[in-house]
Parts: sequence; C-alpha cells; structure tokens
Amino acid sequence: MDFNLTEDQKALQKRAREFAIKEILPVAASYDEAEVMPMKVIKKAWEAGLTNLSIPKEYGGQGYGIMESVIVVEEIAAACPGIATSIFDNDLGSGPIILGGNDEQKQRVLTDITKNFKLIAFATSEPGMGSDVAGMQCRAEKDGDEYILNGTKYWITNAGYADYISVFATTDPTKKHRGIAGFIVPRNLEGVSTGKHIPKLGQRASNTCSIVLKDVHIPKENVLARPGRGFILAMQTFQNTRPAVAAFAIGCARSAMEYSIDYALKRETFGRPIAKYQAIQFKIANMYKDIEAARLLTYKAAWEGDQGLDNNLTSSIAKAFASDAAMEITTEAIQLFGGYGYVRTYPVEKLFRDAKLYQIYEGTSEIQRIVISRFILRQYQHAMPNLFELTRTDIDIEDGNVPIPKKINKTSEELGGKW
Ligand SMILES: Cc1cc2nc3c(=O)[nH]c(=O)nc-3n(C[C@H](O)[C@H](O)[C@H](O)COP(=O)(O)OP(=O)(O)OC[C@H]3O[C@@H](n4cnc5c(N)ncnc54)[C@H](O)[C@@H]3O)c2cc1C
Repeated sequence: MDFNLTEDQKALQKRAREFAIKEILPVAASYDEAEVMPMKVIKKAWEAGLTNLSIPKEYGGQGYGIMESVIVVEEIAAACPGIATSIFDNDLGSGPIILGGNDEQKQRVLTDITKNFKLIAFATSEPGMGSDVAGMQCRAEKDGDEYILNGTKYWITNAGYADYISVFATTDPTKKHRGIAGFIVPRNLEGVSTGKHIPKLGQRASNTCSIVLKDVHIPKENVLARPGRGFILAMQTFQNTRPAVAAFAIGCARSAMEYSIDYALKRETFGRPIAKYQAIQFKIANMYKDIEAARLLTYKAAWEGDQGLDNNLTSSIAKAFASDAAMEITTEAIQLFGGYGYVRTYPVEKLFRDAKLYQIYEGTSEIQRIVISRFILRQYQHAMPNLFELTRTDIDIEDGNVPIPKKINKTSEELGGKW
C-alpha cells in the first residue's frame, strides 16, 4: 500500500493548482454575482489541457484515469465550484459515449468535442423526476431504424451552451429501467430547444437549463444504448463520475478550511486571536480530519475504478461522505467568520452556497445511502459469527485472575435471548 501520489500525479496537481489560482480564483466572485457561463475560462482550461479528462487520447482527450481526474478537479473546485462544474460537465456528458459508444460514434463525436472545443451535456433528469431514473417519462418511439424523441429534460448542466447532449429516454414508461435507451443528440437537430437559464442558490457560474425535445428524429448512428441497456449505461456513468463529485466537494471544503485558518489567526477577540480558543481549534481540527477522510475515500473509489474493480459502493460512500463534509465544513467556516461569514466580504459565503449542490446532483446524499445500505444488508460479509449463533463459555476464576474455561457452551437463544 502506498499513500503517496506518483511524480506525474504531483506534477499534474501542481499544473491544475497553478491554473486554478491564476485563471479561476480571481474571477470566481464576479462570475458568481453575474451568474453567467464562464465560456472564456472553460476555453482557457481546454487550451491548457485540463478538460475532457476521461476521453481517451486516441479521440483527443487527456486519457486520464479516475485518479488523475480527481486530482485535477479538486484543484479547480478549490478555486470555484461553479466553474469546476461547468468545465468538467464534459466528462459526465461524454461518459456514456466512452463507456457505451461504438468506434464510429467515438471518432465522430468525441473527436469533434476535443478538437473543436465543444461541450456535451448529460440528461436523465426531468421536471417530475431526478432520483428515480427508472421513472423517466421522456419518450423514445422506434420508427424503422430511427427513434423519435418527445419530452422535457430538466436541470441540465451546460445545456444552453452544449453542442451535444447524451439523452436518456424510455420506449415504455411502464417497463421502468428495462425501457430506457440512450442517444447522442446534437443540439442543432430539428425539434431540440433549451429553456432559459434557471437561477440558482450557488454554483452560479454553471449554466442550468431545461431541454425540450419535440419530434426529434434520432438516426440509427446516434443510438447509444438499446432499451434496458440505457439505464445500465447511465448508472455506469455515475459510478465513474461520482468520485469526481466527491473531489469537487473536497476542493470546496479545503478552501473553506484554509480561509478559516487564515481568519482565525488574524481575527482577535478579547485581546487574542480566535485561533487561541479551543472551540475554534476544534472546528479547524474537525475540518481537517473530515477532508483527510473524504480524500482517502475518494482516492479508494478512484483507484478501484482504475483497477477495473466494481467501485459502485466506494463511489457512493465517497460522494456521500465528501458532500456532507463539505456542507458541514462550509457551515462551520461561516460560524468561525462570525458576521463576516454571512456577508460577501470573504469567499466562505459563496463556498457555503456552492457546497449544497454536491448533496443533490449526480444522486442525492439519500440516494447514496440507499446504495450503501442495500450493499450492507445484502452483501456485506460479516467477520463475527451471527448474533443468533453466538456461544458463551463460563469460566472459573482460580489462582488469582487466571481464567480457566469450563465446558458449558450455550447459544444466546438457550440463554433466553440474554447475552
Ligand atoms: C444545479 C443542478 C444541476 C444538475 N445537473 C444535471 C444534469 O446535468 N443532468 C441531469 O440529468 N440532472 C441534473 N441535475 C438533476 C439532479 O441530478 C437531481 O436534482 C437530483 O438527482 C435529485 O432529483 P430531484 O431534484 O428530482 O429530487 P427528488 O428525486 O424529487 O427527491 C426529492 C428529495 O427526496 C429524496 N428522496 C427521493 N427518493 C428517495 C428515497 N427512495 N428514499 C429517501 N429519500 C428519497 C431526495 O434525496 C431528495 O432529498 C441537476 C440538478 C441541479 C440542482
């Protein structure tokens, strides 16, 4: 076991951090206030080779594993969670094509995205459903070799600016997950339109829109996944991207902690810096402890994915833990800053608003707990004997305190359920 990053990973981290501090941090507050899509910044990230992280090199992407991706996104989100969401939505949008597309689709679409600075969005959610992906209503009707899409997608990140959208729709809503298929939808296809940007609490530098699909003809070559396979593809995509969402949350929380340290050392009350008070020290200790734990969980999920292991469970654990930690840490940061935490003088107010989204998108914290509890109740391998098969051996105490076992073996049931 080795907890160190490789020299290449450290160099990548340094490059991403320098970019974040130089190109993102200075404009983060302005984009947040203006609530506009940071296209110029995204383009700079593209020029710097810090976008399309998971698209294979042969299609012009960075070809990074999940581990490298989480290293990069932590740095970018530390400067601005909203801009990070905008930049890395391409990894979510292209995920279904990377995982489920054929070579022609990859050559045609992924190469266009990477070479020509194009954006791709991801659309499962609808006005009436987000968590219950199998309950989607957007229709995909088979018409010869084509499909015709009709319906509305909602909350779609980057939809107002995307050139492509990975869309999931159902051939029959009563079939639930077995009816869901996946499609590559070029934004300029007839019948595709997007709504106005939906104003948000946080992450305001990311664009969020509805997509309306009205009799959109999808040619055969843009069918990504047949009915049933589409649902699996969407879930596999989340499995790969959830470690990155955890890393977003870590970056956000890390900045809240660092600003808290700076403030605590400077701000004086009762004649001393507040960092001298144990109540404040404990807040900072908790922040650091949770960031460390979140990062270890995230690296484990990333590592498992890169090894080709099933990282569904670890991805959910990492996402739930890191998102909840970011919310807790940014809340505590506001408290530590006192009145200055509640206003826009310092960046913690923004980080607090930004952090909330991590508990919601790409599977809410409740949905992650469903994944985790399902595993624990069905598959978790116990180390100890079953509760109802425990035995108890009475002992004699002789020669001081040396216990000598006596013959009796009783189960807890034989003991009348008492243990
Ligand atoms: C800014 C933003 C960007 C987004 N970007 C995208 C995107 O690019 N593409 C996309 O497809 N979607 C996107 N989403 C949608 C997002 O994934 C959904 O909002 C999310 O999955 C939750 O769905 P919902 O809002 O419909 O809430 P609901 O599913 O209606 O859930 C409401 C509440 O009930 C809880 N809940 C639901 N079911 C259960 C259950 N079985 N047990 C316990 N609790 C439950 C939820 O956790 C939540 O707290 C985005 C959302 C936002 C806000």
